[in-house]
Amino acid sequence: MKALRLQSDRVGQIPPYMFAELNKKKAALSARGVDVIDLGVGDPDLPTPAHVLDKMREELSKMENSRYPSYVGCTEFREAVAAYYAQNYGVTLDPDREVLALIGSKEGIANLIYAQVDPGDYALVPDPGYPVYRMATLLANGRYHSLPLRAAEGFLPNYEEIPPEVLAQARILFVNYPNNPTAAVADEAFYARTVNFARAENIVVANDFAYNEIAFNEYKPPSIMQIPGAKDVAVELGSLSKTFSMTGWRIGYIVGNREVIKAVATIKSNVDSGQYTAIQRTAATALTGPRDFLAHNLRVYETRQQTVLEGLKALGIDVSPPRASFFVWAPLPAGAISSADFAEKLLTETGVVVTPGAAFGPHGEGYFRLSLSLATERLEEAMQRIQSLAARTR
Ligand SMILES: *Cc1c(COP(=O)(O)O)cnc(C)c1O
Repeated sequence: MKALRLQSDRVGQIPPYMFAELNKKKAALSARGVDVIDLGVGDPDLPTPAHVLDKMREELSKMENSRYPSYVGCTEFREAVAAYYAQNYGVTLDPDREVLALIGSKEGIANLIYAQVDPGDYALVPDPGYPVYRMATLLANGRYHSLPLRAAEGFLPNYEEIPPEVLAQARILFVNYPNNPTAAVADEAFYARTVNFARAENIVVANDFAYNEIAFNEYKPPSIMQIPGAKDVAVELGSLSKTFSMTGWRIGYIVGNREVIKAVATIKSNVDSGQYTAIQRTAATALTGPRDFLAHNLRVYETRQQTVLEGLKALGIDVSPPRASFFVWAPLPAGAISSADFAEKLLTETGVVVTPGAAFGPHGEGYFRLSLSLATERLEEAMQRIQSLAARTR
């Protein structure tokens, strides 16, 4: 007779979080009354725009919204996403077949992988990269192949390095620009190369576009959907989370190739029942509504970025100002043993939390990530602590 087993092998293969120790230490310091400043989290602190909250209050009172939502997303939301792409990228999307509502793009990434990767297939994923690409692939009994992102190459993947035997079984390629964690950006030429590669190798490509609106100095990140022929192989995942400070609302979308969208919809209709219609309708007005709040938020992020870059300079670390995202990706200071060791020392000696680069994959080693999604005064305090540590150890 079989033994009682309380988790599947699928769950058992997910490695424990590498930096659980760091989290434990953080909790212990907080419990001892240390004022811990967490620059590890990528979760906007700036308020959700007032007009969005007003619309939500209105939608909350409608009984029709309390019923089961549409599996694919309500018409208003899908049409708003299509209008948003037409307005911002000059891209035409069929709201019925080329747009699907998601319960946040994280859910979308996982279900996209289930919809594309069979056991033994490869997903090509960036390293360093958002851990969901790797973990969701393992949960689908797939394999992942890491594409190193290197500073010397602008943190863009080099498709020529992929071994032929991996290519032969690769089903999906993830790219993510503006990038988390490196804050790198990609131009249209990169996306054109990527679409050509995907078409030549018969691979689906997904651009994770979560930071599409978090960009500075008039820089406007392009969409992969702008590339001619993109719809043959490409999808793009977008989210209200970062642009509108709505991480807790769980609303995003996937656009592009209609067969891929249909496959994701098949998974989703059997797994979830869609996001609350009041949230979808509110998100629709957010996407097509006033944008002055965004200009304000970007100025705040930019000021914070300068604060962080100046603080890093005191540690002898020179980072040029990132053009997008609310992260700073910094090389370790001279003498640091590893990203984990540095993050631990920083926490112990200053109470400041940063994310060790290795948390995002082996090629993240040698770096650490700081998030700008923290009140400006707290960020200033954190940088002061780091500067005084540098002065003490000099
Ligand atoms: C924040 C983030 C997301 C996810 O956002 P959702 O809240 O799930 O929409 C996706 N990809 C990257 C790289 C992110 O940093």
